Amino acid sequence: MEKAECPECGKNFDTSDAMKQHRNDKHAKQEATVVVRKPKLTFGKVLTYGIILLVVVGIGYALIWALTAPSTGIGAPGSTHIHQDFKVYVSGNAIDFSLGKYQKPHLNAHVHLEGGDGDLIHVHATGVTMEFFLKSLGIKFEKDCLTMDTGDKYCNEGDKALKFYVNSKPSSEWEKYVLKDGDKILVSYGNESEDQITQQLSSVTDKAKRT
Ligand SMILES: [Zn+2]
Ligand SMILES: [Zn+2]
Repeated sequence: MEKAECPECGKNFDTSDAMKQHRNDKHAKQEATVVVRKPKLTFGKVLTYGIILLVVVGIGYALIWALTAPSTGIGAPGSTHIHQDFKVYVSGNAIDFSLGKYQKPHLNAHVHLEGGDGDLIHVHATGVTMEFFLKSLGIKFEKDCLTMDTGDKYCNEGDKALKFYVNSKPSSEWEKYVLKDGDKILVSYGNESEDQITQQLSSVTDKAKRT
């Protein structure tokens, strides 16, 4: 004779059908509670979610870097190390770039002033333009206008003009000029005489050649 034992309680039945019937009647509820198990948050799952989160955050940062990094052909920090002497005059007055607000080398790894020296530009990346350098100091350099970090804007007007000299010669490249090793740069706004311009040009120091 066929015998069937209930796996839940060990009770014996004559037929397997009877046993199944008994299981349904007596043990169905228990089985149901067993099925509704709480989903466990395992270490593996936490690790997987953690890695996904890190990858997403990483991609985000990479995108931000790509979008904010100079797209004007400027190389990576450390791709070069060259120097230029420079002066900026507004209406005959030299801007003092040794001031603390201009001496923040940690804020721009591509180009900066350093060591409290307001005469010498340190270029640490290839392709750095005059505009990019001045922008790093909060100064906007355009062909017709110079806007200082203070917000004061000086534009060509009447006999007052913005002038840009590289190695004592007027440069027509303006904001696109890429700084070269040993350059002597003068940016001047005003209505100076030629003599005054000559004086301003000769006030540009010779530190780059000695560095
Ligand atoms: Zn530096
Ligand atoms: Zn340097």
